[in-house]
Amino acid sequence: TGCGTEAPVQDLFEVDSANVQYTPDFINTKYTYRTTAVSKNANGKYVAAPKETLYDFKVDRKIPKLGVMLVGLGGNNGTTVTAGIIANRRNLVWETKEGPRSANYYGSVIMGSTTKLGTDSKSGQEINIPFHDLLPMVHPNDLTIGGWDISGMNLAEAMDRAKVLEPSLKSLVRKEMALMKPLPSIYYPDFIAANQEERADNLIPGSKAEWAHVEQIRKDISDFKAANGLDKVIVQWTANTERFADIIEGVNDTADNLLKAIKEGHEEISPSTVFAVACILDNVPFINGSPQNTFVPGSIDLAEKHGAFIGGDDFKSGQTKMKSALVDFLINAGIKLTSIASYNHLGNNDGMNLSSQRQFRSKEISKSNVVDDMVAANTVLYKEGEHPDHCVVIKYMPAVGDDKRALDEYYAEIFLGGHQSISIFNVCEDSLLASPLIIDLVLVAEMMTRIEWKAHGADAKYAGFHSVLSILSFMLKAPLTPPGTPVINSLAKQRAALTNIFRACVGLDPESDMTLEHKLF
Ligand code: NAD
Repeated sequence: TGCGTEAPVQDLFEVDSANVQYTPDFINTKYTYRTTAVSKNANGKYVAAPKETLYDFKVDRKIPKLGVMLVGLGGNNGTTVTAGIIANRRNLVWETKEGPRSANYYGSVIMGSTTKLGTDSKSGQEINIPFHDLLPMVHPNDLTIGGWDISGMNLAEAMDRAKVLEPSLKSLVRKEMALMKPLPSIYYPDFIAANQEERADNLIPGSKAEWAHVEQIRKDISDFKAANGLDKVIVQWTANTERFADIIEGVNDTADNLLKAIKEGHEEISPSTVFAVACILDNVPFINGSPQNTFVPGSIDLAEKHGAFIGGDDFKSGQTKMKSALVDFLINAGIKLTSIASYNHLGNNDGMNLSSQRQFRSKEISKSNVVDDMVAANTVLYKEGEHPDHCVVIKYMPAVGDDKRALDEYYAEIFLGGHQSISIFNVCEDSLLASPLIIDLVLVAEMMTRIEWKAHGADAKYAGFHSVLSILSFMLKAPLTPPGTPVINSLAKQRAALTNIFRACVGLDPESDMTLEHKLF
């Protein structure tokens, strides 16, 4: 598996359709996209018209040798995802007080979940397949990992510092982890909490943006690629949450201004934006797993100009994932949610960084908008502009370490003035939830680099998807979407989009869950 020079993998299924053609290198599909176009007529009545658009999709079947470079490699997420991949690659089993445990990819939608392929033509039963088998995707065991950190600790020591993994598991991966040391990174102290300064001992010189930083990052990526014989690299920010950058006309509002501002050493350019720019210039997909506004308008503009993929923001792991499922359920059940109170406390380094007001503010913003679209869509329950009260609190509590606590109260109005309160107390190791998301983001982003489309029959050349990969929304708290397009927060819709776009690429219709075959006799 995994090597670009090997023969294409054996697919788990093939599609038997005149619209789908397999070659050794590609899957070519003619796909009819069916939507409903709505307009208002002269009487003010909606007119809904079925609409069909024909597309050609082309999927490159050759699975590349893939590298992932994490910014913040020595942090809790960085060390946990690295150890997790090593454990899976080596099929490790380790002792715990509850008995032996073995490596798995639980919590990864791609590696841990299945999707319905169709219905058995004889028995009528659903046939479900691992999500990973829907398209020819990279296997995470085959990823080569590297990256940067402002802390120079090797990954064995860094995983001890993180206090996430069982000692028995750590001892099995220690040797390999000890050989991994993050590359020096850029550190602009104004962007992360002052309490992080102590660990900043592995630095590229300079304390604000400069072009040499962009060039160094580009060199690091190409050196990593060459040293490991990689076909492709994906970069992901899992470093500390930064404060928001001010959007300033002439500085970070357009691609040209942003490049100029970096060259001139403007103070308002964050390290994460510098990483994004370096990646975009070399067409390396860049994903932001933290809440800050890395993708200032100038960086989105730059990505569009280069046709480079970007995705963000902020991993959606615990409280918000629950919220984007629960609020969807309540509002779609016709129950009027009137308030959400969300408290968190955590004791890891992320929590310490977020104990600083400006960094907390980034998190507060990314956690706050996640119900907007669901509320706005229900014009029966909510008048225009009406919104449930929503409050987010995060406190640093060193004793609980990585075992984050999230307490939520959902308060809703039900039939005839009654009330429903739902209280949730969610406890889990934060990094064990986030690490599989890091893997999913890498696998899906990579897959998107091998999918092309064009209008069917047109002379037009095949093109890639829009630079802003909103298909990654399921894994992200504040999904970035192409400018001017709607943000979808509902977890079910996000998963359906991911599934159905993948299905379309092999010429299969969306899974509608109508199951008419079982309802009409
Ligand atoms: P962490 O503090 O353990 O790790 C962050 C690492 O980034 C540290 O090792 C730090 O030294 C490094 N770092 C800081 N600035 C850097 C820079 N400019 N360049 C390179 N390295 C730098 O935090 P974590 O728990 O691993 O979380 C990482 C990020 O992911 C945080 O921003 C957090 O808010 C976000 N996040 C985490 C979760 C989760 O469930 N764990 C969910 C959503 C978002």
